[in-house]
Amino acid sequence: MPGDGTIGILGGGQLGRMMALAARALGLSTVIWEPGGAGPASEAADDLIAEPFDSPLGLEIFAKRVQCVTYEFENVSVEAAEALQKWIPVFPPPELLSVSQHRLREKDRARELGLKTTAYRGVTSPEEAQTAAERLGVPGILKTVSGGYDGKGQQRVSRSEEAGAAYLRLAPTGATLIYERLVSFSQEISVVVARDQSGTIEPYPVAENHHHQGILDYSIVPARVSDTVAAQALHQARVMAEGLGLVGVMALEYFVTPDDQVLFNEMAPRPHNSGHWTIEAAAPSQFSQHMRAVAGWPIAPVRLLSPVVMVNLLGDLFPAGTLNLPDVLSVEGVQLHWYGKKDMRPGRKVGHLTVLGSSVGEALVRAREAKARLGGVWHDGA
Ligand code: AMP
Repeated sequence: MPGDGTIGILGGGQLGRMMALAARALGLSTVIWEPGGAGPASEAADDLIAEPFDSPLGLEIFAKRVQCVTYEFENVSVEAAEALQKWIPVFPPPELLSVSQHRLREKDRARELGLKTTAYRGVTSPEEAQTAAERLGVPGILKTVSGGYDGKGQQRVSRSEEAGAAYLRLAPTGATLIYERLVSFSQEISVVVARDQSGTIEPYPVAENHHHQGILDYSIVPARVSDTVAAQALHQARVMAEGLGLVGVMALEYFVTPDDQVLFNEMAPRPHNSGHWTIEAAAPSQFSQHMRAVAGWPIAPVRLLSPVVMVNLLGDLFPAGTLNLPDVLSVEGVQLHWYGKKDMRPGRKVGHLTVLGSSVGEALVRAREAKARLGGVWHDGA
């Protein structure tokens, strides 16, 4: 079959890079399709297509060269994924992509499959936003249904009379937004789950996630949650992977309430930032599982090899000329992943650290030390 052993990846960022590196270790080749041209993934891939995503030439090259297509960001247009699928299998399937791109569809589907969520409702005008806030209660959050990430496209609503103005700050009347009751959570957690083409499902252990200014700051594994919470989160991940026909890897993010309820918040149909620790602390990594599944190979039972803390490195840490990475690497247990981005703007993820320890406590002490050596601040006091 043409393209056997070559995986096409839409998107050229750090997730594409880590997918391409994992593919190479398995003896698979990758072709990255990134309209912007060179980026973190292109250095690691075997080939690069820089055409726009709707280019017939790009499609033709892909159709000839690759055995299947996957994607490393979820804002791939569903139409483009469906067009590709006429020629080449696309994993995870476009239907799953479409659910994950729409916060309302995503929560509706999760509820249909028996998961719990916070109270929510779709609204299409300032008046409906106010009614939703009155009925579901405040405080709440209005969110765009698509396109938001890292906390963008959201407005908090503390009094129902504010909901109309919050709606108009996000969108013109007529657009669909989602109003959600704010969860006073005790923790945010996530589960990365893999499913292969024969239907085998393997979730990774639960990660405990700490955000700063809407961006994942660090993840701790195993999450410091009760066994009941962990069991619920893993079960829900399995149910979603099965119910949505996943092939590859996806991540589910949840809120944990003080009374140990697990509420589904959102999902990503790809390897996830809160699963980067799996490269060193699990076997196989989320990227390797993803490549195995999309290539039509069996995924492997997941093993956690060590307690771990994953620390994101943002552009803010590296104003010009202050790259002090060797000093960080001398902290025991620390491993570095650098994405090779030319542009190190504040808020941009430019690398991450995986910090191993004999316990979560030890990994945390080392992670704090590593971050301090970069001149970074440790948030939240975990
Ligand atoms: P999201 O884009 O849905 O992941 O939201 C980004 C962040 O906003 C989450 O990680 C939470 O910290 C917070 N957030 C979003 N929705 C809610 C909610 N319904 N209740 C409480 N916090 C929320």
